[in-house]
Amino acid sequence: MSFVKGLQCRECGQDYPKEPLHVCETCFGPLEIVYDYDAIANAISREKIAGRDRNLWRYRELLPIDGEPQVGMYSGFTPLVKAHRLAEALGVKELYIKDDSVNHPTFSYKDRVVSVAISKAIEFGFDTVSCASTGNLANSVAAHAAKAGLNCYVFVPDGLEQGKIIGSAIYGPKTIAIKGNYDDVNRICSEIGDKYGWAFVNVNLRPYYSEGAKTHAYEIAEQLGWKLPKHIVVASAGGTILPKLAKAFKELAKVGLVQDTGCKIYSAQAAGCAPIINALHKGTDLISPVKPNTIASSIAIGNPADGYYVVHAVKESGGWGESVTDEEIVEGIKLLARTEGIFTEPAGGTEVAVTRKLIQKGRIPRDESIVISITGNGYKTLEAVARSVEQPYTIKATLENFDQLYQHLNPPISQAAGS
Ligand SMILES: *Cc1c(COP(=O)(O)O)cnc(C)c1O
Ligand SMILES: [Zn+2]
Repeated sequence: MSFVKGLQCRECGQDYPKEPLHVCETCFGPLEIVYDYDAIANAISREKIAGRDRNLWRYRELLPIDGEPQVGMYSGFTPLVKAHRLAEALGVKELYIKDDSVNHPTFSYKDRVVSVAISKAIEFGFDTVSCASTGNLANSVAAHAAKAGLNCYVFVPDGLEQGKIIGSAIYGPKTIAIKGNYDDVNRICSEIGDKYGWAFVNVNLRPYYSEGAKTHAYEIAEQLGWKLPKHIVVASAGGTILPKLAKAFKELAKVGLVQDTGCKIYSAQAAGCAPIINALHKGTDLISPVKPNTIASSIAIGNPADGYYVVHAVKESGGWGESVTDEEIVEGIKLLARTEGIFTEPAGGTEVAVTRKLIQKGRIPRDESIVISITGNGYKTLEAVARSVEQPYTIKATLENFDQLYQHLNPPISQAAGS
């Protein structure tokens, strides 16, 4: 049973059938899934959802598949961590971490969008799945394709972190590293998609794929006891997740699961690749492409496909956005690790550092509920912090050697003051 009525152009409103289409033939606008919300409101309830498995398919009425889910039976429903110690460090009252760094099976928010896209690819009868990726998407597509027994080709920019490369290769796809940056990868993938007829999850299946991102927001609302947070901060790369969080919060109100109390949404980017923040700060929705230069490779998209929609969703919500330097990103990673015991990658460091900046600037008030979306896992990007953590102390296996080290690490106060 599906509540999808069809596809519709976001720009000119032209209707399209439920097919693997993604751009409007008339105006080249992106296509969006249209649901029958009245029917969904009748079919769904908090109790019904509560009785379902703890994965992203518990909101299946609001997702664009027709039959049973084919993959992602353990994806989503990640922890919403009450972050007392980080709240104290940032000087705020009520702070949560939505922790997609532990999403199953590849430790990023991408396991949501890929679960939906690959289920849909199977419904459409594709036998080969593919993607243009900055790393995390490739990991997720490769893993879900393996589980579903599909052929898989993933395309990434060359020079990615080892964790991202091996984190795809282990699942047995063909990995193609394109010389250049993500924007070069994306361009060639459009051509390959047209020619080879594969399911490119974030190209020709993009309308279906992007709907999976909504589940991040549904879960936050459910985990807060069917309430919306007042503020949410999330990184923007191509611009998929942020507008979908806005859409998801509105949908929950529309189908009667929450009261629409409003949630301000904030975009986080690295200063070395901040085309969306630049536009936002200039007061325009025209995105000027940039050449990425940042350690936050998973969000280094210089020409974001949905940047325009991020700017509009941010403004409509009453939110804002900031960018932070690579140095601040590393500090953000360490701060989250040392206060909450959560190890995120540079995208998550960006989310933490931008939250701190927004609080310091008074953009986010200190006494209202705040969620930081942590979208990726730090164990994949050890390079980013390898030089900014303490190295191990190597000693001989004798108690005497440890005693010496311990004294060195904990000098008596008087001695410490005198030296
Ligand atoms: C893909 C990604 C994002 C956000 O990307 P969008 O294209 O804007 O949805 C954020 N964080 C991480 C770790 C990612 O991999
Ligand atoms: Zn159109």
